[in-house]
Amino acid sequence: MSEKTKSLSEDLYQEACQVLPGGISRNTIYRKPNPDYVAHGSGCHVTDVQGVQRIDFANNMCSLIHGHAHQPTVDAVCEQLQRGSAFTMATEAEMRYAQHLCERSESFDKVRFMNSGTEAVMSGIKLARAVTGRPKIAKTEGAYHGTYDYAEVSQKSKPENWGEYSAPSSVPVAMGTPSGALNDVVVFPFNDIEKTIALLDQHADQLAAVILDPLPHRVGLIPATSEYIQALQDWAAGNNSLFILDEVITFRMQYGGAQQWYEGFHPDLTAMGKIIGGGFPVGALAGKDEYMSAMDPSRQTLPLPHSGTFSANPVTMTAGLSAMSAFDQSAVQSLNELGDYARRQMAAAIENAGATACVTGAGSMFRVHLKKEPPTHYREAYQDAKGTKKLKQLVDHLYQAGFMMINTCSAALSTAMTQNEIDKLAQALEEGLRSIEG
Ligand code: PMP
Repeated sequence: MSEKTKSLSEDLYQEACQVLPGGISRNTIYRKPNPDYVAHGSGCHVTDVQGVQRIDFANNMCSLIHGHAHQPTVDAVCEQLQRGSAFTMATEAEMRYAQHLCERSESFDKVRFMNSGTEAVMSGIKLARAVTGRPKIAKTEGAYHGTYDYAEVSQKSKPENWGEYSAPSSVPVAMGTPSGALNDVVVFPFNDIEKTIALLDQHADQLAAVILDPLPHRVGLIPATSEYIQALQDWAAGNNSLFILDEVITFRMQYGGAQQWYEGFHPDLTAMGKIIGGGFPVGALAGKDEYMSAMDPSRQTLPLPHSGTFSANPVTMTAGLSAMSAFDQSAVQSLNELGDYARRQMAAAIENAGATACVTGAGSMFRVHLKKEPPTHYREAYQDAKGTKKLKQLVDHLYQAGFMMINTCSAALSTAMTQNEIDKLAQALEEGLRSIEG
């Protein structure tokens, strides 16, 4: 990379720092000394303004199932753009897309669109409160569910504030989070039936909902066990509480989301986002009619009024329908097989390098941990400052070698990839592990 071209991103970043806090708009893309600026992307490749091309294993934080500039989606969106992008009217596009999503999962009687995963989770929580008349929610320690005050509690707990394993403290992410929000969130340890049920029981008559991501990334990218899902489902049903599944990331796991991993499992509500927008901002809440009808404005008393200026705009709806139609049963299966291959190749790279590391994940995602054994819950996945520094060195090494990863050294594959890209990454991982061990 020449000095001259390198300075283009530096120059842009300097200007950006004048008008954007920290020079950026989302902390995810922050890099020191400056982020590189993108020129364009195509399939699984992204080229920056210096002309450096990288293979994209981040896929805009798991949101691009076909990689960049998926041609059928580009064509469909361009056509829609000619006709307008947002209206104070209903669109056929939203109805057609809702039909498509409802056809993908038996759990979806109705769907309501919004603009982000955060909003989908927030609406699910508000809906649960509205139909149960209860204030509290329960969530997994360490799980990321977006930035709603309640949903983000204990997402970044640390040893000095996380309290007992069997009764994790409600730890705020943002300074100034009202204590009311913290008090209304029960935090439980992932995949531990006994401890979780004991905690839920303590707040049984107060809990509007239990919310769970079945493959929580920050908890270690390990799947919820069938027994755990069953126990939570039974508890929610037996205590008039709603079970909300956060499939904002995991909807890519099966044709109808990771919920299809679990036989006979039908969450009351499912939050979605990311891939279902076909590359555009999106969120959606789907679920059983008896609950979703609380958003039906034709009702005399409306338990949950919900709107959003750009909700279900026809550009997102068109892109989503195009991308998801192309992500059919066989595309899902092929991508998951590529995921199996990737996990095997990463494990082989770790072994070849003789590194203290392991790989977790499922479906089309994986995560490399600098730990000997795969973590089983958030506290085991947690990295201290030394571990975090080492992992950053590894992610930086991969970046310099031409691979974009999610900061935690995680990857989300796209249908634009082949074994070829995986093999190249495995090679770079082996070298990277050797260099940080050395
Ligand atoms: N839930 C999960 C599981 C997520 O991973 C995310 C985003 N990473 C969200 C919710 C929030 O989605 P968004 O960034 O679209 O608000």
